[in-house]
Amino acid sequence: MMIHLTAYTTQVGYDYTYLILFIGIAILSYIVQANLKSKFEKFSKMPIGMTGRDIAIKMLQDNGIYDVKVTCTPGTLTDHYNPATKTVNLSNGVYSSASIAAAAVAAHECGHAVQHAKAYAPLKMRSALVPFVQFSSSIMTWVLLIGILTVQTMPQLLLAGIILFASTTLFSFITLPVEIDASRRALAWLQMSGITNAGNHQYASSALRSAAYTYVVAALSSLATLLYYVMIYLNRRD
Ligand SMILES: [Zn+2]
Repeated sequence: MMIHLTAYTTQVGYDYTYLILFIGIAILSYIVQANLKSKFEKFSKMPIGMTGRDIAIKMLQDNGIYDVKVTCTPGTLTDHYNPATKTVNLSNGVYSSASIAAAAVAAHECGHAVQHAKAYAPLKMRSALVPFVQFSSSIMTWVLLIGILTVQTMPQLLLAGIILFASTTLFSFITLPVEIDASRRALAWLQMSGITNAGNHQYASSALRSAAYTYVVAALSSLATLLYYVMIYLNRRD
C-alpha cells in the first residue's frame, strides 16, 4: 500500500511539474511569435535602396554563387532555401519590397545557399536527417499514443515512440546552428556590402535575432515533450 501511494504521489508530482513547464513554454512561444510579428511589421516600413530580390541576387553573386535561382513564392513567412532545386524562394512581401525586414530575410535565405555551396557541416547533417524525420513524423503520434496506453503490458512500443520522437528533437536542435549561422552570414554581408548602414543595421540584426528565438523555443519545447515521454516510460510499473 505504501509503495503504491508513493508511486502515485510521484506520478502526480511529475504531472504538475510538466503541466507548469508546458504552460511556461506555451507562454514563451506566444511572446516570441508576437515579438517577431511586431518587429517585422515595424521594419517592413523602414525603406532601403534595393528589393529583396535584388539583394538576394547580389549576395549570391558576391559569394561566387551563380547556379542558384531567386524566385517568388506565395504566402507570408514562406521564405526558404531549397537545396534540392537550388532556389532561394522569397515570399511576395520580401521579393518585391525594399525594406529592412525584406533585406534581412532575403540575405538570411541566401545565407543558407552559401552554407550549401560551402558544404557547411550542420546543414549537411540536417539534410541527412530529413528522410528519417519525415518517416518519424508520419507514424510518431500513433506509436506514442498506443505506447502510452499499453505501457504496462508492452513498454517496448513506447520506447520505439520515444526513439522516433527523439529524432525530431535532435533535428530541431541541429536547426539552431544552421539558422544562427545563416543570419550571421547575412548580417556580415549586409554590412560589408553597404546595403545596411550605421543607422539601420541594428534593425536587420534585431529582426533576425527575433526569428532565431522562435527556433530556440521550438527546440526547448520538443525537448520538454521528449522528457515527458521518457518520464512516463521510466515510471511504468512492470
Ligand atoms: Zn533559415
